[in-house]
Amino acid sequence: MSMIPDDKVSEVRERASILEVVSDYVSLRKSGANYQGLCPFHGEKTPSFNVNPAKGIFHCFGCGVGGNAFSFIMKIEGLSFPEAVKFLAKRVGVTIEERPPTPQEKRRLDEREELYRVNDLAADFYRRVLMKDAAGEAGRRYLERRGVDAATAEAYRLGFAPDRWDSLIRHLEQKKVPLAAAETLGLIRHKEGGGYYDTFRNRLLFTIADIQGRPIGFGGRVLDDSLPKYINSPESPVYRKSEVLFGVNLARQAMREQGAAIVVEGYFDHLALHQAGVHHAVATCGTALTGEHLKLLQRYAGKVYTLFDSDSAGSKATCRAMELFLGGALPAFVVELPEGEDPDSFLKKEGSGAFADRIARARPIFEWFFRYTVRAADTGTVEGKVQVVEELAPHLKKITNPVERDLYVREIARVLGVNERALMRKVGGAAVAAAEFSRHRESKRSGTTTEDMLLALMGKYPEVAGKVADYGAANLFPEGLLPVAEAIIAQSRSGNDIEWGLILDGVGSPEERSRLAALFIDDRHLEEIDAHKAFEQCRQARERALLKQQDPKALQRELSQLDYDSERYREILGILNDLRNRKSQLS
Ligand SMILES: [Zn+2]
Repeated sequence: MSMIPDDKVSEVRERASILEVVSDYVSLRKSGANYQGLCPFHGEKTPSFNVNPAKGIFHCFGCGVGGNAFSFIMKIEGLSFPEAVKFLAKRVGVTIEERPPTPQEKRRLDEREELYRVNDLAADFYRRVLMKDAAGEAGRRYLERRGVDAATAEAYRLGFAPDRWDSLIRHLEQKKVPLAAAETLGLIRHKEGGGYYDTFRNRLLFTIADIQGRPIGFGGRVLDDSLPKYINSPESPVYRKSEVLFGVNLARQAMREQGAAIVVEGYFDHLALHQAGVHHAVATCGTALTGEHLKLLQRYAGKVYTLFDSDSAGSKATCRAMELFLGGALPAFVVELPEGEDPDSFLKKEGSGAFADRIARARPIFEWFFRYTVRAADTGTVEGKVQVVEELAPHLKKITNPVERDLYVREIARVLGVNERALMRKVGGAAVAAAEFSRHRESKRSGTTTEDMLLALMGKYPEVAGKVADYGAANLFPEGLLPVAEAIIAQSRSGNDIEWGLILDGVGSPEERSRLAALFIDDRHLEEIDAHKAFEQCRQARERALLKQQDPKALQRELSQLDYDSERYREILGILNDLRNRKSQLS
């Protein structure tokens, strides 16, 4: 798939030191052979993120991600593999001349490029109208009234769509843009009698950008009270609403610095915060928060503040978001503004100091939900209390941290005046929760198989790699691990140090890559192991496992041809015995 020649990929891999690459994002401290820091992919207070500069790999023991410099950049910058190679190439000064794409690749690339280009042209057109044209006068006055300064308008690529049916169409025709592409993007629409008309008319336009700042859609607001207040671009090959948050390109740096993200509802909420110097915000703009949105935020922030309207629609949005957060890894807090205020009006009245104070007083999202539910019910009656408990219980069950859940149960019991133990039973008490919690952790940590151990040994001891090569890697490793084993053998034959980064690039799935990085990053435990004995154990275990899959009749046949002094003879005998015993147990 990649259009970058392999030797260039290797050159970048060799030159990009993982320590320098990661240090741009994480502050690292030396600890033994590794460097440690706070994981940028999940919120934590004690460092479990490890970088091994000698091996060129990283791994987080908290959330399990791992890989090499390329996988790190892919994850943290949200890039594909070729994009990550190019990103690092620039950093280490490797010039990449790409091989020409295949016709199929070219078509797909061209299509996407074309869509970005058309959006870009449209954004420039609307921007120019807002800044200079007579047709943009109403937009300019509106921005002035709302106190939007020039720098902010520039950062958001604000524009204005004239009050005509064909302004953009004429502009695109002049630029020789195929109108079909503009239709795919939802910039223009089919007329019934044939031809097209502009989608956005007489509206102030926000350019929606992806994480790299490329324009992928528009949000258009009317200047008066007419409806609909907002029109947004439809989904297109470059715009998926469940994956995009408005303003993420402006906020990514600040989210990382603050370790937090603020989620607001609308374009102007976002703009008001940005202009007031609060830069770590993103906006949902008409779509509900999704799991994909959370994953995006998790790359930059360790916690999230939701700041929705204080009306009932806003409360419902907060409730929906809570469902998502309780099951996920990002802690969430609710910021509340006084009745009837939005971020824009609040900041104008009270200033950014008062806003910071609101953030500091934000409540954990479940606590907010608890208060909200109690307020809405009549807790003076038995019926009302039962209703509140019924409403809270399913959500309480989703809180994965047993200590947190326990504290909530106590608080709820206290506020409602109900029996704590009864409530505990209803949500699956603390003991049950604690057991689940530790089981969850254990299953995350264990899972090292004999084959994994052998791989790690091969990397550490060239003589083990040699033994595996002599014996035949295919006889020892299942299909999935075979390429990894073969890569280690090939590299250890060359006599150089193993290039772990290269080996991980050969692993297809990110999950498997993370698992192997965990295995390779810290090999101190291997020092006490007798490598030759371990090899023997692995070999025997593997062979037994393979033999067990065999047909006893075939084994009998093989047995009859073997010398009864041979090791193989004794092995098969052992297996046949095992098989017989198991059979007799079953019958
Ligand atoms: Zn982590």
